[in-house]
Amino acid sequence: MPTDRSFDPITPRKAGRTTATFVAVFTLAIGIFLAVGPVRLPPVWQAVVIGGVAFLATYIAVTAAVERYINARLRLLFRMVHDLRTGGKPTDEMEADSIGEVRNTLEVWAREKRTEIAELTEREKYRREFIGNLSHELKTPLFNIQGYVLTLLDGGLEDPKVARDFLERAARGSDRLMKIVEDLDMISKLENGVLALKPRNVELNSIVSDPMVEVQRLPGAQNIRLINSVPEGLRVRVDPAKCAQVFTNLLENAVRYGKPGGEVEVLAYALDGDHVLVEVRDNGIGIAEEHLPRLFERFYRVNNSRARHEGGSGLGLAIVKHIVEAHGGTITVKSEAGHGTTFGFTLPKAN
Ligand code: ADP
Repeated sequence: MPTDRSFDPITPRKAGRTTATFVAVFTLAIGIFLAVGPVRLPPVWQAVVIGGVAFLATYIAVTAAVERYINARLRLLFRMVHDLRTGGKPTDEMEADSIGEVRNTLEVWAREKRTEIAELTEREKYRREFIGNLSHELKTPLFNIQGYVLTLLDGGLEDPKVARDFLERAARGSDRLMKIVEDLDMISKLENGVLALKPRNVELNSIVSDPMVEVQRLPGAQNIRLINSVPEGLRVRVDPAKCAQVFTNLLENAVRYGKPGGEVEVLAYALDGDHVLVEVRDNGIGIAEEHLPRLFERFYRVNNSRARHEGGSGLGLAIVKHIVEAHGGTITVKSEAGHGTTFGFTLPKAN
């Protein structure tokens, strides 16, 4: 280990030696002054002995006192480090001296470390959950495809009807896999800022209409009425393709979790500032309150919703949130189980 020769620490012994030398020299000087003076008392040998005794006594006393002082401070520092490590508040026993400064520095350092550790633990938990969810989501369609292929190989191929049916099912499974991978790719591009927005001034009504026509064609959507109530002439500054993706995802969900004969409506209002408020409302099955705070997390699904449909990736709302936020907007959800759901989000007004 490299040593710094210019740094010469004061040890308790050195402090004792220096002080004792001063005291001894001073005592000896007075003794000799008296010994050679008119009174001639004490004799010179006694003055020397007194000087020696003074040296020894001072050396022992100063060394012990400094050591005790330092040990007491160190004990306090150790206790404080222990308190900080275990998350408690350090005891306030030190004076405002240099050790007090060390205490403050340590306290700040420990606070920073605790926040850092909490963040890392949270991130690690999130990462583990994400990988678990991802493998689970990929496993289901993969198992299905594997099952169909094995059945075909085991003889299903000989029967053209079975063969077609199983191949169609396997194709649906691979579509599902593809959708998950595409959605993941989209999320990662949005998060890494690779998918830069290309915003321009557009009529909001026209962005809503195409996804609405497409969603109306989905199986199960025929008996649900889709209504575009966005006022004509309301213009926003957005990336039209990304914004259309938001409507596709929200409308698909509204239909998927809608009730037969139900209604889905898109509304929009110009707010006072620079934003427009958009709402996608349905009168479908709704979402229980306890699920709302986590609804926009990747792969988060309300119980049993997977049983209702096999087509979604569980990433739709996470993508919606990313796109809205990339436009500088915010998104919220209001819902009541059994009565319906409203997603509300803001978009920038055209300039
Ligand atoms: P998914 O692919 O499962 O639809 P999303 O991220 O789009 O994934 O949605 C997450 C979950 O939120 C869904 O699984 C569903 O339970 C719930 N959800 C989303 N939209 C609605 C809605 N309009 N009505 C009821 N539940 C909804």
